[in-house]
Amino acid sequence: MEKVHSIAVEQTQNSRLAQVDFENLNFGKIMSDHMLLAEYDNGSWQSVKVVPYENLSLSPAASALHYGQAIFEGIKAYSLENGQISIFRPDQNHIRFNKSAARLEMPEVPEEIFLEGMKELIRTDRDWVPKNPGTSLYIRPYMFATEAALGVHPSASYKFLIITSPVGAYYNKPLRVKIETHFTRAAEGGVGFSKNAGNYALSLHPTRLAQEEGFDQLMWTDAKEHAYIEEAGTANLLFIMDDTLITPSSETILRGITRLSIMDIAKKWGLKTESRKVSIEELINGIEDGSVTEAFAAGTAATLTPIVEIGHEGKVYKLSDPATRAFSNKVLAYLNDLRYGRIEDEFGWNL
Ligand code: PMP
Repeated sequence: MEKVHSIAVEQTQNSRLAQVDFENLNFGKIMSDHMLLAEYDNGSWQSVKVVPYENLSLSPAASALHYGQAIFEGIKAYSLENGQISIFRPDQNHIRFNKSAARLEMPEVPEEIFLEGMKELIRTDRDWVPKNPGTSLYIRPYMFATEAALGVHPSASYKFLIITSPVGAYYNKPLRVKIETHFTRAAEGGVGFSKNAGNYALSLHPTRLAQEEGFDQLMWTDAKEHAYIEEAGTANLLFIMDDTLITPSSETILRGITRLSIMDIAKKWGLKTESRKVSIEELINGIEDGSVTEAFAAGTAATLTPIVEIGHEGKVYKLSDPATRAFSNKVLAYLNDLRYGRIEDEFGWNL
């Protein structure tokens, strides 16, 4: 990270750092000392500053609370072997954030606020980036509508914030997933590609039902026919079929940065890759005839999680033992080495 100076920093007088048990970090429960706060009003961004983490004051009529103009991102910063801190591909999250904003008729957040603001915040809270193996600082940029108005229209004012949370080493428990053929996450022409709050609210009920049946997560399918695989929970899906790495492609899927990185690495290694429609039938036939040798979920929170069982219409299809999966294990090890600075950053992804 290079140095930036333009953003005002108000240091906390009451650091909570000494109270944190860095040996026992749960995901997203502890927030770091500071946050970035920017306000948009009258057609432009009015102020940007790093301030102590504190409660916000909002009008009860703030339109995000009623009509859901609310978007977010998820990114991680890592403590490198050489003592420096790096953030993994935040430029990609910035692009995706502004696509989400445009779809919900919200203002774009410029690079000086999103990226430079993030760097200034991480610099201010650098002691919050955990150092134990497998740990990281989870970064949550988000924006929501604040205009006090009950009419349905794009808000005139917004808050953009970045908060951060130290997170522990992730144990990639293999997943049992159910193919969802009744509920829908996203339809063509809808908002599936955007990272808006509503996409997560709508997933809670179908996911709970699947969990009651003993699954960990859902595999969403397309809205029209429920015949094509889309994504799972807060992660994208990838499969090794024969000699090819395949990921479902559709405008309804969130374009994950972990998935993008894994596809880029696979290409560099000379593996065949395809981004295309994958039908339930193709997947299940592939599991049954042995051509699907690996299946995994990819996302910022867990990086890569093997899928061991897939439920569909009352049957459970079992996949190979995760320990035997050559590509999954190799690419996960490579990504970890890259993000913790143990190997050369040949793609230039650590900012
Ligand atoms: N799909 C959904 C719905 C998600 O919430 C996420 C997490 N952001 C992903 C896929 C994976 O995206 P990324 O690799 O950028 O974290």
